[in-house]
Amino acid sequence: MEQLESDCIIVGGGPAGMMAGLLLARAGVRVAVFEKHPDFLRDFRGDTIHPSTLQLMQELGFLEEFLRLPHQKAPTLHAEIGGRQVAIADFRRLPLACRYIAFMPQWDFLDFLARKAQALPGFSLHMGVETTGLIRAADRIAGIRWQGGAARAALVIGADGRQSVVRREAGLVVRDFGSAVDVLWLKLSRRPDDPAPAMSHAGPQQGLVLIDRGDYWQCGYVIRKGSHEELKARGILAFRAALAALAPLPAERFDEITSWDQVHLLQIRMDRLEQWWAPGVLCIGDAAHAMSPVGGFGVNLAIQDAVAVARILAGPLRAGQVGTRDLAAVQARRLFPTRATQGLQRMMRRKRNDRGEAAPRPPGFVRAIARMPALAHLMGRLIGMGFRTERIR
Ligand SMILES: Cc1cc2nc3c(=O)[nH]c(=O)nc-3n(C[C@H](O)[C@H](O)[C@H](O)COP(=O)(O)OP(=O)(O)OC[C@H]3O[C@@H](n4cnc5c(N)ncnc54)[C@H](O)[C@@H]3O)c2cc1C
Repeated sequence: MEQLESDCIIVGGGPAGMMAGLLLARAGVRVAVFEKHPDFLRDFRGDTIHPSTLQLMQELGFLEEFLRLPHQKAPTLHAEIGGRQVAIADFRRLPLACRYIAFMPQWDFLDFLARKAQALPGFSLHMGVETTGLIRAADRIAGIRWQGGAARAALVIGADGRQSVVRREAGLVVRDFGSAVDVLWLKLSRRPDDPAPAMSHAGPQQGLVLIDRGDYWQCGYVIRKGSHEELKARGILAFRAALAALAPLPAERFDEITSWDQVHLLQIRMDRLEQWWAPGVLCIGDAAHAMSPVGGFGVNLAIQDAVAVARILAGPLRAGQVGTRDLAAVQARRLFPTRATQGLQRMMRRKRNDRGEAAPRPPGFVRAIARMPALAHLMGRLIGMGFRTERIR
């Protein structure tokens, strides 16, 4: 049985876990990150690197090197409203080094953070290790278990996403805000003469999001929660026709979708822990507050949580004296931006009728942005920087 010991254990190598690991190690804390997958290569990850994250890269001295990785810059985000392409978020006036969202496959971003963190003496990354439970000692959490091993630390950070094992095993109470939709996630090859918007959102009944990943489009098709099987029963041809009806591309482009194996179901949830911590354990990112994809806020919020964790907890962790007051301070710092962002996401989602069908028009809030372009700058600020921007010291 493998046994490890560290100052801090992080469960989950997503944006929150990798950024927290890097920053804590940089601050001299011995930190071990455990990720259940053997690599970061998964298709269904948010691909947005927000202006505030690019600012952190600059503060860390990594920006120039980071921007050498393949990416697409989006100074504005667009939606189709009433048949017209409208900028719903404009980043061009942000008081930051990079006034755009960079669309980059998240595995490149996470690989980059992992490389930088592994160069630091106190950092270790354990890929392919799935946490299955927590170790309790007296009245606190003292470590994690997996099949064939265990690790102990003064603090366990749960950064293990929407289905967090850490929050479940720690018995933290979840407040569920529900979601009426799920997303079907698929790839479509991209041609040089395809329309340019880095992200579009269209359709009278359902939504289709297109993310430009260079040689292909990552497509997210919004469906009523629970209707996946119904859709499959109607057949792949009907599905192709439904996509084509929404996309700004000719219908025959969808002929390459020939099997349901090309289509992944992503379940959406929105929730928040009442208390993000218990003695010896703290949850951050989606593990503390699962975000819907609406507006593309989740990755930024997760990373900003990680920055706050490093700033507030590095000192106590180095001194071996991390207490519940320190953990509560992280929640206190991050609660307002989380609440405000989830509130905004709830405002931005479409109203649904009793059968779960989307209202024919986008929400009033989105229509207002179409009428008043100045609001696109406000949205740019909220998406690009969040409600409370964290800085690295
Ligand atoms: C369909 C969809 C599209 C989205 N698009 C966007 C977008 O474009 N922009 C945006 O900002 N947000 C988007 N979001 C939200 C965003 O994905 C999340 O808010 C963000 O990923 C949260 O980061 P995280 O690090 O907290 O968790 P995650 O990114 O979920 O990372 C958690 C990590 O923990 C690992 N893990 C899980 N369980 C264990 C375990 N037991 N042991 C070890 N490791 C474990 C997982 O493998 C994963 O690597 C989207 C969400 C969905 C569902």
